[in-house]
Amino acid sequence: MLGNLELISGRVPVIIEYQYDAAADDYRRIGEMIADFERRDIQIAGIEVTPILPRRQDNHFNAGFGDLTILHWINAVIEDAGFPAERSAPLFACIADQKAYHVYDVDGSIIPCPSLQLGERAYGHVTTGIDYVAETQLLERRFPEECRTCALLPTCMGGCRLRADMENGDFNGVICNRDHLETELKRYMRQKAKDELERRDACGDLPVDE
Ligand code: SF4
Repeated sequence: MLGNLELISGRVPVIIEYQYDAAADDYRRIGEMIADFERRDIQIAGIEVTPILPRRQDNHFNAGFGDLTILHWINAVIEDAGFPAERSAPLFACIADQKAYHVYDVDGSIIPCPSLQLGERAYGHVTTGIDYVAETQLLERRFPEECRTCALLPTCMGGCRLRADMENGDFNGVICNRDHLETELKRYMRQKAKDELERRDACGDLPVDE
């Protein structure tokens, strides 16, 4: 893999998706991966970190999000190594509900999520385009009352559909990660406020107390 990255280094922006198992401690070896990039002079535009989430097939990685301090620790190591830190607002919405993304399967089918099987739940094909009626019917979501009144709905949108399917047999059902989402949003807002205060401090434009 490193050989392939060496070949394309500097020609296209390379972004690494780093997935870790929250039940193991091998995430602590991320420094070795970063050292490999430096040793082989591979230019990396960014590293995105996500936990391995349970899948439907034989799955040895069932810890899901686990302890979020692992995620924070990995991001701190990446930032210390000089890579841009992940500073976008947390979004738990299913990729199937993010209309800016389309997933093309290897047979040309357009499917809602890269974790689905070949052509599964396809709502179009690369040769014929999107079947918008099929897409709308497929992605109709059933929100319980709890979600309709939840302040986190815009950034959750019901969560991962595949997990809802695995756990409740309903691709259009919801999976609630409210505690994690709340924790991550608070952390994000604190960081943003800190960044802004530091920026203003550096510019000397903080309002002076009367
Ligand atoms: S956080 Fe839970 S209650 Fe709130 S919208 Fe998401 S699934 Fe519904």
